[in-house]
Amino acid sequence: MNTRNLLRLASCRKHFMYTCGISPSQFWRFVLPAIIWVILVRPTPTRAADSSTPAEWTKANMSSLVELYRFLHQAPELSEKEKETSARMAKELQDLGIDVTTNVGGYGVVGVLKNGPGNVLLLRADMDALPVTEQTGLPYASKVHIEDTHGATVCVMHACGHDVHMTNLVATARYLASHRDIWSGTIVFVFQPAEEVGGGADAMIKDGVLARFPRPDYAVAFHDSADVPTGEMNYFPGYALANVDSVDIVIKGRGGHGASPETTIDPIVIAAKLVLDLQTIVSREVKPIDPAVVTVGSIHAGTKHNIISDECRLQLTLRSLSPQVRKQLQDAVRRKALAAAASAGAPEPTVEISEGTPALFNDPQLTKRLTTALKKQFGDDKIKEGEAVMGGEDFGRFGSTGVPICMLRLGAVNQKRLDEFAAKHVPPSSLHSPLFYPDIEETLMMGVPAMVTCVTELLPRK
Ligand SMILES: [Zn+2]
Ligand SMILES: [Zn+2]
Repeated sequence: MNTRNLLRLASCRKHFMYTCGISPSQFWRFVLPAIIWVILVRPTPTRAADSSTPAEWTKANMSSLVELYRFLHQAPELSEKEKETSARMAKELQDLGIDVTTNVGGYGVVGVLKNGPGNVLLLRADMDALPVTEQTGLPYASKVHIEDTHGATVCVMHACGHDVHMTNLVATARYLASHRDIWSGTIVFVFQPAEEVGGGADAMIKDGVLARFPRPDYAVAFHDSADVPTGEMNYFPGYALANVDSVDIVIKGRGGHGASPETTIDPIVIAAKLVLDLQTIVSREVKPIDPAVVTVGSIHAGTKHNIISDECRLQLTLRSLSPQVRKQLQDAVRRKALAAAASAGAPEPTVEISEGTPALFNDPQLTKRLTTALKKQFGDDKIKEGEAVMGGEDFGRFGSTGVPICMLRLGAVNQKRLDEFAAKHVPPSSLHSPLFYPDIEETLMMGVPAMVTCVTELLPRK
């Protein structure tokens, strides 16, 4: 009680005594101490703490989580254009009282939640969608289409499930913000843009996501999986996703009449030879137990039946897991291209190699620690070792800075649907397919408690 209130109380005293019919001594001995006790000592009732487990909480809050998921699914935005998505993510964190910074490396959002002493854990979800025309036929299917810079209409869909990742991370933030008694430390929530073009993580790191905010001791992310059943997760220690490099080759020839090949150097024939030569890199040069892929995804030359063109353009994707094999592939592609041109007496071709996303390396110790905790929570049969895949994921860039990282795969299609695919002898619709969709409720029932388990394992309350 402050001085002003005491003066006010004194001035009310006479009126109070008159109204209640008590003497001044009774007032000073009984009434005033009682008033002071009520104001100063009486324990204020606190809101009953929410003691629900992550699974109970997820179930109880499912309708609002599904609502968020469907909102995101119906408002997909392409890489580097995640303006509205990032605004929603920022608001979700701000509503929880989390300290939020926006526009980190593009539309990146960073939220820092401090909760006592302990380590720093970075949790990451990606936000971008893909230029895919949704064909799931679901009532909440995306109908979004935009006009690209050439005036063409492009449909947009969350075909990689980044809407699942965002919903799962927001749900985890909601649970952790309202259950601070079960963990201790600092969480850095990262909503990353531009994963599908391989630039978002790099842009956020260059903009200081690991320097301007508490530097993480660990970083964890989940990616949904189209062939792992809901209620299960997969892990793979070590290199789990590939180095992704792009190569642009221009074979230069000498154009002329299709009826007079002797006056020309035909770049199409050189390119055809090169395509076959390139196949021998993996089959004859790389160690058989080292994963590697060389794919020629595009080849273009010529305009007409009877014209031998000047040049032929090829576009390749190279995939590898280790840095050694990555270099081996790059060197071999260059050598084969130069040799193919030289063998035809053609000018030296240009070979441009753009290094994209580096391989994602799941820190073995961190992976072991998390999967041990998850197995304890969900059972050994629910957390299984999977396989490395040759896709790319730029979450690996956080690991390249020296932060131990772990990306786990979250089952997103229920067993019933997987069985239906199996019965038809067709593989489940993969990520990036216009037919892919997660069984969202079952996915979140595993995803949210699993992410909370990762937090309580790495940021335990002592
Ligand atoms: Zn993707
Ligand atoms: Zn993805």
